[in-house]
Amino acid sequence: MAFELPDLPYDFSALEPNIDALTMETHYTKHHQGYTNNLNNAIAGTDLEGQSIEDILANISKHSTAVRNNGGGYFNHNLYWKIMSPDGGGEPTDRMNIKKAIDRDFGSFESFKAEFAKAGATRFGSGWAWLVVDPEDKLFICSTPNQDNPLMDLSACKKGIPVLGMDVWEHAYYLKYQNKRGAYIDAFFNVINWKEVTQRYNDANPGASSF
Ligand code: MN
Repeated sequence: MAFELPDLPYDFSALEPNIDALTMETHYTKHHQGYTNNLNNAIAGTDLEGQSIEDILANISKHSTAVRNNGGGYFNHNLYWKIMSPDGGGEPTDRMNIKKAIDRDFGSFESFKAEFAKAGATRFGSGWAWLVVDPEDKLFICSTPNQDNPLMDLSACKKGIPVLGMDVWEHAYYLKYQNKRGAYIDAFFNVINWKEVTQRYNDANPGASSF
């Protein structure tokens, strides 16, 4: 069974002015569709057909570069659309477990925000910044090149489950922000869907009560 492009949970223009409609449309209908198609082509006729994307990524060192690049691109963008929302931004509320975990592991929301923004700003070339929960329920921030992510068994990050991801490829911001990646990162914080992030944190950590 082939992987399918998931529905976008809002209109192309829904994240204006933070993310412009043309960037959203191009990113979703061209880039994400391309990763999806190329992933399906790369696994067609192999024993990867029918595996979950998480299982494929967990053993990515055994697979081809095409599966690594396009499998990563497929998963990463599925997450990216979901962790943004026109109702997003601001800080997670005190009732959200992610808020407690951020305070516990970074000291404050402001410290977390500064470290996450720096991870995106300092990623040379194309890649992602991640907020990740490790198997000991500790949050950490890291960045990966290209379409790698912390689920992969050969990632630049310690392995863990990503709960927030920020695309810092130029295709994510160049039409509106040109070379000003920092302005895009500031805008990204205005659309983070903290309800979704805390849900992913809760799901990664079955001991936690829901927010
Ligand atoms: Mn992208």
